[in-house]
Amino acid sequence: MLDTLMDILLFRLHKQHADGKTPRLTTGTVVLGGLIRLSILVLTMWWISDVWEFHQFWPLFSIMVVMIVFYPAYRELSMFSDSVESLKESTMCGSCMHFESSAQICSKYDEHITEDHIPCEGIDWEPYSH
Ligand code: SF4
Repeated sequence: MLDTLMDILLFRLHKQHADGKTPRLTTGTVVLGGLIRLSILVLTMWWISDVWEFHQFWPLFSIMVVMIVFYPAYRELSMFSDSVESLKESTMCGSCMHFESSAQICSKYDEHITEDHIPCEGIDWEPYSH
């Protein structure tokens, strides 16, 4: 848990867990990381305005939100998007109707997919039916 929190705070979510089955970067981790960073930022700015009586902090707060919350979230989403594209090209799941690219999961098994972990091991692969 502490490791995950540190990963979120330090923006190093583009790796996989040691088990190879769970991606470290998903849409859920991007949202969670953004909320944690925003909460820490709000509490910090609240403390600064209260203790130091620095009440003209809104412009600074706005800049900090962009730099600490929105930009990292955008960067993480870009990395997530790149990793899903790479996964689509390198695994059979990319051409399977059960692959949910928005969450990088198999909807049939409700499990994350990585290059090292294909939940069905190819048995339940089905092509898209248009
Ligand atoms: S059914 Fe199998 S091939 Fe299809 S997405 Fe799930 S794990 Fe991948």
